[in-house]
Amino acid sequence: MSHQRKVIVVGAGPAGLGVAGGIRAACVILEKQMQPGGLMRSKTVKGYVFDWAGHIFFTRINRIRDLIEELQKGDFHYQDRESWIFSKNTYSRYPFQANTFGLPLPVVKECLMGLIEATYSDDPAEPTNFEQWIYKTYGSGIASHFMIPYNRKLWARDLSEMDHHWLADRVPRPGLSEFIDGALGPGRKDLGPNARFGYPLTGGMQTVADRLALKSAATIEYNTTVTMIDPVKQQVITQDKRVFTYDHLVLTCPLHEIVDMTRNIPDELRQLSRSLEFLSVLCVNVGIRRSSITEKHWIYFPEPEFLFHRVFVQGNAAPQVCPQGCFSFTAEITYNSKKEVDINSAGLTTLDGLIRAGLLNENDPVDVVDLIDIPVAYIVPTHERNSVVSSLREWYKRHNIHLVGRFAEWEYYNMDHAIDAGWTLAEELNQT
Ligand SMILES: Cc1cc2nc3c(=O)[nH]c(=O)nc-3n(C[C@H](O)[C@H](O)[C@H](O)COP(=O)(O)OP(=O)(O)OC[C@H]3O[C@@H](n4cnc5c(N)ncnc54)[C@H](O)[C@@H]3O)c2cc1C
Repeated sequence: MSHQRKVIVVGAGPAGLGVAGGIRAACVILEKQMQPGGLMRSKTVKGYVFDWAGHIFFTRINRIRDLIEELQKGDFHYQDRESWIFSKNTYSRYPFQANTFGLPLPVVKECLMGLIEATYSDDPAEPTNFEQWIYKTYGSGIASHFMIPYNRKLWARDLSEMDHHWLADRVPRPGLSEFIDGALGPGRKDLGPNARFGYPLTGGMQTVADRLALKSAATIEYNTTVTMIDPVKQQVITQDKRVFTYDHLVLTCPLHEIVDMTRNIPDELRQLSRSLEFLSVLCVNVGIRRSSITEKHWIYFPEPEFLFHRVFVQGNAAPQVCPQGCFSFTAEITYNSKKEVDINSAGLTTLDGLIRAGLLNENDPVDVVDLIDIPVAYIVPTHERNSVVSSLREWYKRHNIHLVGRFAEWEYYNMDHAIDAGWTLAEELNQT
């Protein structure tokens, strides 16, 4: 009798569900949570639906768009982005670099002069880090009024310690003519990859994860945390001491945790993994008994006077995410060992910030203040990242262990990239 190959996947987030959707071998997913979705999941508090930090759907990958639209038929809608920045006590449209209209005139002038200097600079040197990339791309005005303060606040580190190649086409780079249009009057609304985005009508982003899980033929074992990987015996061991034997193992959990769990990994690789850096996010979810507070979808806050760097207007993601007559927001606050956040005061400080930004009134009836902690939220694209990840990846691959997804590949993936990466891996495994 021929042996049926067995694929074990650790994690039922977008990447794990992508693998499960494409694989032909027998497949079991081990997931530590009680629900699928990973960071794509949602929760409901007193009738308010909140994502694990606001999640919108947009993609350039056609097969992923087709998949999600087919899955969500009748339960999905698209909206044109209303994304804004609050700085200098003013709301200006995102992206800052193409929409300085409404900001104080000396700020607009500095941004324009800086962009002219950067555009006509004859310095041929390529930028070698994120900070240099900002100055060279946008000039000193846009850098000092938005790009540097916002990114320092978000990444909680010196930007010269970060690589810049991850930015690729994530950030719009308007030319001088677009800058001038957006300085003299309302600029273009459609810049960047997420100018139009999709969202489920009901249940938050969780519904997409639920439907992906239902569609796959894999067995998903929830409430199952993998604690040990034995590449020699080709086994994984769970917290409750169950042993699963595999032919191929697919890991979607964070790379540094993978290394910690792996038996017999060479010391130098273990040492290398210590240089992987990540960022955590605390989400403060707020539910208010007042409807249609703003038409905006999300707002960036570059200034240190605000604890949060971004507010996702969850109440505008879909009409059904709040109880009748109510509205909701999620404020995102990054933290790491150098930038701590006081979890006990974060709720009140967030409410105060929302009032100062004119989004709430002092006497608004607050229904919900709820916290979601995401200990591993953003990978930090340090200069060492590429070589560390490729050394680890190579070693694991030699042991029939495949790393896939945002945190296992240590890549700045969105949901669509993670699903697609899982699906692509499944296609490769189907060929072996
Ligand atoms: C603040 C924030 C906002 C974002 N907004 C967007 C957005 O608007 N649009 C978008 O497309 N993307 C967004 N993303 C990115 C998106 O969330 C990720 O790209 C995507 O979730 C990555 O999927 P993944 O499967 O690789 O990882 P994950 O979603 O992290 O899934 C990994 C899974 O593995 C499980 N797991 C981990 N360790 C173990 C273990 N030891 N045993 C068993 N199971 C384990 C976890 O519980 C989880 O379910 C955002 C991310 C963040 C942090």
